[in-house]
Amino acid sequence: MGMGCVGLVTGATAALDGHRVVCVDIDGERVRALSEGRAPFYEPGLDEAVRRMVAKKRLRASEDLTGAVADSEMSFICVGTPPRRDGSADLRQVREAAGAVGDGLRGRRGYHVVVVKSTVPPDTTAGLIVPAVASHSGMQPGDFGACMCPEFLREGDALQDSLKPDRIVIGELDRRSGDALLAFYSKKRCPKIRMWLTAAELVKYISNSFLATKIAFSNEMANLCEKFDVDVYQVMEGVGLDSRIGPDFLRAGAGFGGSCFPKDLSALASVARRAGVRSRIVEAVLRQNEEQPFRAVALAEEALGGLRGRELAVLGLTFKPGTDDVRFSRAEPIIRALLDRGARVTAHDPRGMENFRREFGLDIQYAPSALEALKGKEGVIFQTEWLEYRRIPASAYIKLMQRPIVIDSRRTVDARKLKAAGVRYLAIGAPRD
Ligand code: NAD
Repeated sequence: MGMGCVGLVTGATAALDGHRVVCVDIDGERVRALSEGRAPFYEPGLDEAVRRMVAKKRLRASEDLTGAVADSEMSFICVGTPPRRDGSADLRQVREAAGAVGDGLRGRRGYHVVVVKSTVPPDTTAGLIVPAVASHSGMQPGDFGACMCPEFLREGDALQDSLKPDRIVIGELDRRSGDALLAFYSKKRCPKIRMWLTAAELVKYISNSFLATKIAFSNEMANLCEKFDVDVYQVMEGVGLDSRIGPDFLRAGAGFGGSCFPKDLSALASVARRAGVRSRIVEAVLRQNEEQPFRAVALAEEALGGLRGRELAVLGLTFKPGTDDVRFSRAEPIIRALLDRGARVTAHDPRGMENFRREFGLDIQYAPSALEALKGKEGVIFQTEWLEYRRIPASAYIKLMQRPIVIDSRRTVDARKLKAAGVRYLAIGAPRD
């Protein structure tokens, strides 16, 4: 249930593993796309996997939620849990999906397990989903099974992550529910751990909070490194070689975005507040992440000697490469700040321009290519580290731009080559020279 990144990738992977899957969504467009054998959004390899599995009749789509449940042994709730204004998780989609599962189970024979894949606050599965399924189906918990199985896939690598996960965490209502999910995942060769439903919910929130903390910490250190004319990437290479720390998520930049980290940290902070626990670290990480995009803007201001009336290009609008997802992209605060300071902005992204235009409606130009975006500009800010941006020849900056100034938020381009060609290059956490 739910054909976003998590639902569709879970469905496609299950089909590839030999299960028969029906993906359900209330969004008719998504259902139509899958029925025609295409993925409704961009994710590497997904379109091909969907085409093959639909052709083999192992994967199909439907808008009939209750019918799909009635015909299945397991249902996976993969609907959205977006943030509410106060930062807490909006559980409306989850509540509705749970009710629909219950309706589908009413009067049905045979054992059925409801698996929650959506990221939900602690106690949602036991306190809200299981009771909703029970009241809609007229069954007792135990007559149907329930698991909470958090999803750890990364957008941009979603299919690979789902095919070969690092670990599978099984939160279980009872032994029988967990055994059924374990059997479902029998083809996966990775550690599988079992626990109570609420513990599994917390594994997800705490994993994301820890990863986001590493990023925010690196960002804070980047700002410090700049003051000492030292490169934070060099420093973090030294730091990350400590096996207790590890090299991942130490790449400083303009902050984290995406559909998970910002909302999951806000939700965890909100849960903690309500539980009467102070989450100083998570709240500080969120604050640091709000401020960090302005480092890119400050570098542009410094390099150009002010932003009023300046013509700038912003390359990369998605929250990371390999996706068309722009949710919480740091491009938005960067561009808003540039516009507020009187700059004019032309943007480009290989995948995310349509979504960005629709989502934020900012008063900017969109260029059909990166090279087109550079034409006549006094500076360019790289916001997403798309590989194709790295391939822009150094000569293009000199030839096309009014002033060849590059602000690199995420170490997208080859600084040495650009500097050698006469481009002025500034990056977050890098020394000036
Ligand atoms: P999404 O918002 O992109 O997609 C959710 C889909 O559910 C939409 O297509 C929507 O139309 C559909 N939907 C809503 N209500 C429905 C209902 N009652 N019945 C059927 N379909 C319904 O979400 P997503 O990015 O795939 O994430 C889903 C969940 O997984 C969230 O809780 C998210 O936090 C979590 N998660 C996401 C990622 C990620 O990288 N995107 C990774 C791990 C976990």
